[in-house]
Amino acid sequence: TTTLDGKVALVTGGARGIGAGIALRLATDGADVAITYLRSADRAAAVVKEIEALGRRALAFPADSAEPDALREAVDRTAAELGRLDILVNNAAVFPVGALDEVDADERDRTIAVNVRGPYVAAQAAARHLGDGGRIISIGSNVGERAVFPGLALYAMSKTALAGLTRGLARELGPRGITVNLVNPGPTDTDANPAHGPNAGAVAGFTALGRYARPADIAATVAHLAAPEAAYVTGAVVNVDGGFTS
Ligand code: NDP
Repeated sequence: TTTLDGKVALVTGGARGIGAGIALRLATDGADVAITYLRSADRAAAVVKEIEALGRRALAFPADSAEPDALREAVDRTAAELGRLDILVNNAAVFPVGALDEVDADERDRTIAVNVRGPYVAAQAAARHLGDGGRIISIGSNVGERAVFPGLALYAMSKTALAGLTRGLARELGPRGITVNLVNPGPTDTDANPAHGPNAGAVAGFTALGRYARPADIAATVAHLAAPEAAYVTGAVVNVDGGFTS
């Protein structure tokens, strides 16, 4: 079945990695999908082509998640050009790693701008378009729940903030029939965290399953939460982490 037939989704950072996996899965399930990108224009165009090959409409907008105006424009253009907005997926993020005194002020502020203010602004803009059955799904991190190495304080802080955003917005938007949830991936094979990178063995060892996820594993849970059948799940934090936090 194509459970998202007639729906329109926007996925931030949808040109590659987990975001691309989510965009393609939502399209496979029937949605028309817009994505934002920062640098990956070519890969964004390739994702658009793949979605169109599935018979769905697709758009890609350049939009730096650190820029509130750019994010708002991406949300409004999605609704205008695809006719409506049903699903927002806050996926775009940066992954800073460094000890307290190694992370400079620019990286600190940019992390908060992209990983925290971005999802807040996008949710605010999306909420103006969402109707009954609307969905806001943010991508957090296993590291927000369990920061296993030193050097992750800034990233973990930014991802934990999304749990508060999710719970607060679930209360605010629940009366309108809109659900708001957070998906925390575990180690997932992407450019940011390659399954064969230098620390991958140790990281995989923290999971119960002893291995990395693929972007499609994360996308499957996002697709479930986006679907009508998940209408009673809201304010939830769902770990898709291979048991990393167990
Ligand atoms: P990647 O680094 O592989 O991809 C990051 C994506 O975010 C790219 O599409 C990138 O766009 C986009 N992006 C980054 N900064 C901005 C910005 N300022 N404005 C717009 N887009 C931006 O990341 P992953 O796919 O691995 O991660 C996706 C999500 O999953 C993130 O929220 C991450 O924190 C989370 N996560 C990932 C885990 C993993 O192990 N991979 C584990 C836990 C959570 P572009 O290519 O155009 O620059």
